[in-house]
Order: sequence, then C-alpha cells, then structure tokens
Amino acid sequence: MSESKKSPSAKEQGRGRGLDESQPLATFALRSATSGHRLHPEEPHPYRTAFQRDRGRIVHSTAFRRLQYKTQVFVHLEADHYRNRLTHTLEGAQITRIIARQLGLNQDLAESVALAHDLGHTPFGHAGERVLAEAMLDHGGFDHNRQGLRVVDLLERRHPDYLGLNLCDETREGMLKHGSNWAHPVPIPDVSGQRSGEAQVADASDEIAYLNHDLDDALRAGILTLEMLIELPILGDLAQQAQGHHGDIPEEVRRTRMISEMIDTLVTDLIAATRDRIVAEELDSPEAIRARTGKVVGFSPRVERARREIKSFLFERFYNHPKVALRTQEAEKVVKSLFDQFLAAPDHLPEGVRARFDETGRERAIADYVAGMTDRFAISEQTRLFGAEGLGNSL
Ligand code: MG
Repeated sequence: MSESKKSPSAKEQGRGRGLDESQPLATFALRSATSGHRLHPEEPHPYRTAFQRDRGRIVHSTAFRRLQYKTQVFVHLEADHYRNRLTHTLEGAQITRIIARQLGLNQDLAESVALAHDLGHTPFGHAGERVLAEAMLDHGGFDHNRQGLRVVDLLERRHPDYLGLNLCDETREGMLKHGSNWAHPVPIPDVSGQRSGEAQVADASDEIAYLNHDLDDALRAGILTLEMLIELPILGDLAQQAQGHHGDIPEEVRRTRMISEMIDTLVTDLIAATRDRIVAEELDSPEAIRARTGKVVGFSPRVERARREIKSFLFERFYNHPKVALRTQEAEKVVKSLFDQFLAAPDHLPEGVRARFDETGRERAIADYVAGMTDRFAISEQTRLFGAEGLGNSL
C-alpha cells in the first residue's frame, strides 16, 4: 500500500526523501481514505485506493487512446518520432511521479491528474481549440480544460447507471484551472483557493515535459539548432557543454544529453524550492497548501526567470515559426469547415451525435464530437465531406 500511516516530520519532509523505496505520505498529501469523494458513491475496492482506480479508468478510456493521434506541435502525419498528445502525457506523468514521490505527495492522485490533463484537447492542438472557442462564443464557450471535464463527467460511457467515469473530486479538481467558471451539468469542484499539491505538481510537470520535448522536436526537425540556444539561461551552458564535450558522438546523442540534463535541472530545482517553502511556512496539511496566496509548487526565482525566457524563446522561434504556423492555419481551416458543415447539414453526423441535440443544444453536441476527433479522423472526415480536393490534404 502506498498510503502508510506513519508520516515523516516536517524536517524530514523538508529535506526531501533521497533514495527511498518506501512511500510514506507527508502530512500535506491528500489521502484517498479521507477524501476520494465521487458523485455516485462506490464500495471501496479490496486493494486499490480510490486514486488508483481513477488512474485505471483514465488509462482505459477512449479519450486516452485517441491522444495517440492528436497533435502536440507537429501534425502527426509528418513523421512518427515526434511527440503526440499521448507521449506528451506519458512524459508529463513520469515527471509528476518523480516530483510527487520526492515531496511525499500522493503519487497515485498526482499521476491520475497528469494522465487526464489533456483528455479535452481537440485535434490539431491549440489550433483546434481556438476554432471551437470562436464557434462556441455565443453557446457557452469552449476550452480544453473544460472539455476534459466534459469527457470524464459526461462523454465517456462505461456504466449502465451514469455517464462518465465517476472520478474522485480531487482528480477532477486537478483537471481544472483557476477561474474556470462556466455551466456544467455536474457539480464542479471548488477551485477558488489553491488546488492540491498533487494538482500543482501535475501542472508544473506538464510544463517541464513540453518545454523540453518541444525543444527536442524542434532541434530534431532542424527548426532550431544548438547554436541558437547559446544565449539562453541554463540551456546555453548545457548546449555549450553538449557541443564541446562529445565531439565524436552523433548529433542525436548530444541533443539527448542536453535535454536530459535540462529536465533534471528543472525537476531538481522545483523539488528543492518547493520543499524550502513547505518548511519555511510550516505547511503541514492539505488545507494549508490550499489556503496559501500563491502556488506552493514552483521553481526558485533564478530558474523561474530562466523558464520564462526559454518559454518566450520557444514561442518566438518555434511555435510561431512559419513552417509550424502554416500547418496551424491549415488545421484551423479543417476544424472550422467541419464544425460549420455539421451545423449546416446535420445529416452528415452519426445518429448518436444528433440524438444529443435536444439535451445539449446542437452547437454543443457538435463541439463535443469535433473536439473528440483525432487529427487523422478530422482529415478523413474533411475528405468525405468536401472531396479529395478539400482542405487538409496538405496536412
Ligand atoms: Mg499538457
């Protein structure tokens, strides 16, 4: 069992746990036995905690499998070794487990949140999200966090008596961001204060994962080069080391060493800075973490500045690179034309989607359907509706 009753002292928690294969939870960790509330009450499982059951439901969901064919940054058809939403999710979950374990937080909960955090993503990443947000402006709005909650609360079907996965409130809370305030047919967890330490770790790990793997993909694609990174904090030194040290090793290995060391630098700093805050403020309960003015999980000021600089560099040089931007525009056209066409001619929709019109409204049912599509299904629907000359064939 991962939830030992024996808790380390605040001092032990503050030091971090070093090499230790036992998994005691800190006093500020959430425990499934005293939380784990579900909308539809369930009998406890004989040997799986409530959060472990959530993790299983997420991994076995249809939306999770579809992440495999959804874009991270590159459209998945371009090459098979770039990240997609599934590999991004797995890399984020891996980092989440390491950090949660070191801090004494509940790994199973943090991992569940990490595995679920992108379930609401549309095809073609943020391009698809922008289009649906625009289309749904007068119909209740759209964003991927909210859509993730719709997926786990309403759209997955696996039980005869209710819709959704019936996840714990703590897992659902972790999928939401601050200020999420919109109509949802199922009660929404309160996110007016800070979210749990576990949710904060999943968020931070998501960012550590994508900053590094996007950088890796951009280097691999030749959009960025190691030379371009020299001026950047942390990365500059690592890039220089990678170039200088290993003269006779392949470029790929050099790049991989740099990315690996970068992840380690960020993770180590995040753990140390977070535990310093925990000790300095004597945070000794989940409530103390929630009551804080800002997030407790975060980098030191120096690494936080570096993180921002690296992120704006990536936006400027990679996410807005003409090669990426062109594909983004094409992707937006595909999603827009699908939404508009389904709205104008609902006969093209599957019966199950039309059957939801009365209950959810036509626009919402179509948004749910389009948001659930993978990139390649969206492209094949595009071809079905608009012919071989239609949009999306250059994607
Ligand atoms: Mg993510």
